[in-house]
Amino acid sequence: MVIIGSGPAGLTAALYTSRANLEPLLIEGIEAGGQLMLTTLVENYPGFRAGVMGPDLMGEMRAQAQHFGAAILQGDVTSVDLSKRPFTINVGQTVYTADTLIIATGASAKWLDLGVDRKLSGRGVSTCATCDGFFFKGLPVAVVGGGDTAMEEAIYLSKLATSVTVVHRRNSLRASKVMQDKAMSTPNISFLWNKEVIDIKDLDQGKVTSLVLRDTQTGAQSDLAVDGVFIGIGHTPNTALFKGQLAMHDNGYLKTHDGSRTSVPGVFAAGDVQDHVYRQAVTAAGSGCMAAIDAERFLSGTLHDTSHSIHPPPSTSSPS
Ligand code: NDP
Repeated sequence: MVIIGSGPAGLTAALYTSRANLEPLLIEGIEAGGQLMLTTLVENYPGFRAGVMGPDLMGEMRAQAQHFGAAILQGDVTSVDLSKRPFTINVGQTVYTADTLIIATGASAKWLDLGVDRKLSGRGVSTCATCDGFFFKGLPVAVVGGGDTAMEEAIYLSKLATSVTVVHRRNSLRASKVMQDKAMSTPNISFLWNKEVIDIKDLDQGKVTSLVLRDTQTGAQSDLAVDGVFIGIGHTPNTALFKGQLAMHDNGYLKTHDGSRTSVPGVFAAGDVQDHVYRQAVTAAGSGCMAAIDAERFLSGTLHDTSHSIHPPPSTSSPS
């Protein structure tokens, strides 16, 4: 039993499978703990009346899984072979094999694809206000995007920055009404509508000095002087490792059916890597539990599937 990913989905799968004596190996990746490591107070994870800090919650989940015997390996998976069982999972030069695999690799923040945004990452460009907002105390910043992420970033930054300008490519927000209202009623948050970022200055100085904007209606260009820019335009699922091996939706998220089953019998998926709709810590944890139970039933030969013929894995490799 190998689990890839160490957010709420992966760690819950590790908790359930270790308690079922499946001796899971969890490969936690370099961004260990997932997206909750980039947040502060989490108020909507059940069981914490006063909320819980994201990194603390992940630390507890990790310790709980280890307490029941889950082995945790630090390292990024570099390739997998899911064409036959046991499956092969490579971490650099080291090869692991697994009779069953749970994928919980999550999703990562999207960049603008300007090139310059990544080059100035950590030097004025960020995808995480709670991580980097502090550096812009008393300075003007911009947030790009019109969804809940962008509103959340803007509201957080409004408490630190002198001003927050939300730059959105359309004239209406995608964010939920409650988040829109909160952002719009914050005095130092303003909105620039129908604007896309076409450049970020100044690579030569190695810091952000302004954004070059283009009006999506008129094509007119303008400059916005800021010291920082936060990109809040959504997420990309971490599925590159599985391209060509597992069925995916057009947007790159893994396809699952009958619970957590992927297109390859014995491979299960949990959390944001297969969920572009709910994307909550609690739903990720819940789907990690589902994957663990499905994997356990697969190993014991009691998993019933409507669209695949699934057999328990043989002890040596054989065609799947
Ligand atoms: P969304 O996909 O909802 O929004 C992305 C936003 O970024 C859209 O406004 C989109 O514009 C814009 N955008 C996308 N690509 C680009 C680009 N290349 N250039 C400029 N703008 C771009 O993603 P979110 O991360 O905001 O939210 C994802 C999900 O997570 C949602 O279901 C949301 O409700 C949820 N969420 C909930 C939170 C909460 O409840 N506290 C906090 C954060 C997220 P356009 O509108 O034109 O498509």
